[in-house]
Amino acid sequence: MADLQVALHMGGETILETATVEAFKTCLRGEVLTPSDAGYDEARLLWNGMHDKHPALIARCTGVADVIDAVNFARTHHLVVAVRGGGHNVAGTASCDGGIMIDLSLMKGIRVDPESRTVYAQGGATWGDVDRETQVFGLATPGGVVSTTGIAGLTLGGGLGWLRRKHGLSIDNVLSVDIVTADGQFHTASATQNADLFWGIRGGGGNFGVVTSFVYRLHPVGPMVTLCAPWYPVETAKEVLPAWRDFMASAPEELSSQALFWTVPPVSDFPEEAHGKRVVIPAAVYSGPADEGERVVQPLRELGTPLVDLSGPIPWTVLQSAFDPFFPKGEQLYYFKSRYLNDLNDATIDAIIPQASNPPQPMVLVVLWHNGGAMSRVGPEETAFMGRDAPYLLSVDAIWNNPQDTAEVITYARDFLAAMTPYSPGGLYVNFAGLGEEGDALVRSAYGANYARLVALKNTYDPTNLFRLNQNIAPTV
Ligand SMILES: Cc1cc2nc3c(=O)[nH]c(=O)nc-3n(C[C@H](O)[C@H](O)[C@H](O)COP(=O)(O)OP(=O)(O)OC[C@H]3O[C@@H](n4cnc5c(N)ncnc54)[C@H](O)[C@@H]3O)c2cc1C
Repeated sequence: MADLQVALHMGGETILETATVEAFKTCLRGEVLTPSDAGYDEARLLWNGMHDKHPALIARCTGVADVIDAVNFARTHHLVVAVRGGGHNVAGTASCDGGIMIDLSLMKGIRVDPESRTVYAQGGATWGDVDRETQVFGLATPGGVVSTTGIAGLTLGGGLGWLRRKHGLSIDNVLSVDIVTADGQFHTASATQNADLFWGIRGGGGNFGVVTSFVYRLHPVGPMVTLCAPWYPVETAKEVLPAWRDFMASAPEELSSQALFWTVPPVSDFPEEAHGKRVVIPAAVYSGPADEGERVVQPLRELGTPLVDLSGPIPWTVLQSAFDPFFPKGEQLYYFKSRYLNDLNDATIDAIIPQASNPPQPMVLVVLWHNGGAMSRVGPEETAFMGRDAPYLLSVDAIWNNPQDTAEVITYARDFLAAMTPYSPGGLYVNFAGLGEEGDALVRSAYGANYARLVALKNTYDPTNLFRLNQNIAPTV
């Protein structure tokens, strides 16, 4: 192996001698891959096909010791550092050019304690991994709605899923984490240990260190839950959305719901005559008893004549992976960006419908997350996460195939969200932050009143901003 050219986190490049790299390779239990190694291209692949990054080193960690050594190596040599959990972040921050990717994706150890209703999961697990283990005991913790998403990035940003109104965000169910900070020190953070760090990692993303494992609280869920998914023609959105809003205003907290605008994919699962038609879907999941669920969701199925209706009882694990085929890794291009909404009055609905009905690419999803319930009963300053009191989050999840369409699709998403300014209290969800292109302005608006406290925490735990490839809270020391 020749000497390795590497990128430095304060800018510029340097050369790492072969002996230095070899010594690092030898000390890790996991592999360290460089561009000439077999498996390098597969290991560097991110979920969003927009990002084709080439780290100089990929440290495929197998445990806490590897993570400590990787962080120490990165800090000692001043390397650009990316931390990878599930690799799903749209902004592509899980990788880098020329630096080191600290890759946790082999760290998928999970242990459920059914007595205490808790699960320990390592930082490279996906929601599919966690659901698989917890459902054996009829338990689950709030995660995301696509099973291949990493638990780490999703949790550290907040975590919105089908259990949010009944059991809160993912972070509301984190009992503790193990984390390696920029100085290479190992900490456990919980309500009683390193409480400042525990506050920051619940919403503050990957700014404070590498989380090697999480302990989550579990709840009885499933094995069967009820899905509500009638797909109405988009032309009826002006009737469907107000009816959905009014229904959800008094719906039980077991029901979490998001109204989606989408286009019926041309696949045999759906009737041919519906292929290519734009639809509005008042999607909901009832996580209480399945027989009750069918009765609860029935009114949402009677808002018109659906083109497709996928409603009915469904195993929790099947539900959690039902969307996976539409989000393949590395094959499509993605840009997800969001904005909180004050409410969903008729003026807001009128502003949403024309844009949501006519995207430049058919697979653009527009998602109205209806929030509230358990997630809004946690105070805004109890965790770093902001936006608990906004009743809705609007997310434009743009998906397309041809790089030539990139500029048009991203412009559409940005213009759409900019047009929602009069209906928004400001702020966005850091896990749906596009490419993070607004930088400092983005994190200030995302964290609002919690921003100053996050900066103080960053000054304490990462004063040189080693962990900067994220929605970055820049230190001020
Ligand atoms: C198809 C799809 C569906 C999604 N669905 C949902 C959803 O239902 N609900 C929701 O809330 N969000 C959802 N998201 C957004 C998701 O929360 C973010 O993309 C999240 O960053 C993904 O986590 P990851 O571990 O896969 O990310 P990665 O790309 O691996 O990492 C993203 C960032 O998180 C940090 N990070 C990752 N692992 C660690 C770690 N172990 N320690 C410290 N920092 C770490 C790093 O800063 C890294 O840059 C979805 C995204 C996609 C692409």
